Amino acid sequence: MIAATETHMAEISKMAAAAYPAECCGLLAGIDNSDKEVRITRVVPSDNVSQTDTRDSFEVDPKVRFDLMRALEGTEERIVGHYHSHPDHPAEPSATDLSMVYEPELFWLIASVSKPATTDIKAFCASPDASFFVPVPIRIVKE
Ligand SMILES: [Zn+2]
Repeated sequence: MIAATETHMAEISKMAAAAYPAECCGLLAGIDNSDKEVRITRVVPSDNVSQTDTRDSFEVDPKVRFDLMRALEGTEERIVGHYHSHPDHPAEPSATDLSMVYEPELFWLIASVSKPATTDIKAFCASPDASFFVPVPIRIVKE
């Protein structure tokens, strides 16, 4: 389970709408609330540096990841996942998404956006062998 604030969700919604019709993307930092729940602490936007069509692919800038890892050094926080948007498509992982699971421990947040607004945000994690995605509930917590 993921715990996130309304502000986190609103930030992702806003970025997904702003990037439309391209995909937005970024990283999620968090802490382990309990063995069953990760609490999001930071939503860190990235440029979409995908070399193919950014309307249906995304890639987080490696520099954003490097800088975030540096910023989290010595804290309880770690990189717990990433987010991206699906312009005009549902908030469900695509076949391309599945082919891009390199770190099965990371959460995936996917925002469905249809002009002009984000309609849905869902979370997933990959199965241990990265052959399918499992939906993960998002619990909205107080700021
Ligand atoms: Zn996707």
